[in-house]
Amino acid sequence: MAKKRSLKEYRAKRDFTVSPEPSGTARAAHVSKRPASKLIFCVQKHLASHLHYDFRLEHNGVMLSWAVPKGPSLNPADKRLAMQVEDHPRDYADFEGVIPSGYGAGVVMLWDYGTWEPPGDINEGLEKGHFKFTLNGTKLKGSWAFARLGRTFGSKPQWLLIKHKDEWAGTLDILTFAPLSVKSGQDFKGILAKGYPEEWKVAPPAKGGEAGKMYATLLAKLRPKKPAKKNLWVSNKA
Ligand code: MN
Repeated sequence: MAKKRSLKEYRAKRDFTVSPEPSGTARAAHVSKRPASKLIFCVQKHLASHLHYDFRLEHNGVMLSWAVPKGPSLNPADKRLAMQVEDHPRDYADFEGVIPSGYGAGVVMLWDYGTWEPPGDINEGLEKGHFKFTLNGTKLKGSWAFARLGRTFGSKPQWLLIKHKDEWAGTLDILTFAPLSVKSGQDFKGILAKGYPEEWKVAPPAKGGEAGKMYATLLAKLRPKKPAKKNLWVSNKA
């Protein structure tokens, strides 16, 4: 039996009067325009309280979603922890922007986008806890697998995301080789430059750790430079 997918949890966590994220009530143009036979996938690089990558596969009208702390790897020897999270709306798949506050507050970059091919019956794979699939993205391609672990995070299962050996596998570090957005070509600074929330000057989404350092660097770079004042006084040092 296929599990009924719902956006109830997704909507309950967010305040759409504050967050620019899609509520999932409108059908995005790119979704209705794509060939009906194709399913979309995306990976969003998300600098929130921690940097992570959100991996999403379209299924039954929603995006099945996993948070991957270390991001996907092209190396079949790397087994990347993927924590399943609430299903997201389909029009989330090309979302990029700034979430000022609340759940997931931070910067979201559309890091990869494309289509995916499930292995026959995906419901069976989800139930059994193991399925292979193919990605046709800009950065991620070829054969991949999800394998469920026997433990959960909150109420959701944890999985491993693994690249299969094929012509797209290798030791190239795709995260550092191709760090930018496939939508805008921007880095976090570029996405944030369009308008970062005022309150982040005092309280950015992360203060300590790696993410805290990233915010401090980003916000310092974005601080408007004071125009050099002409010194009307004769300087001793001149
Ligand atoms: Mn996230």
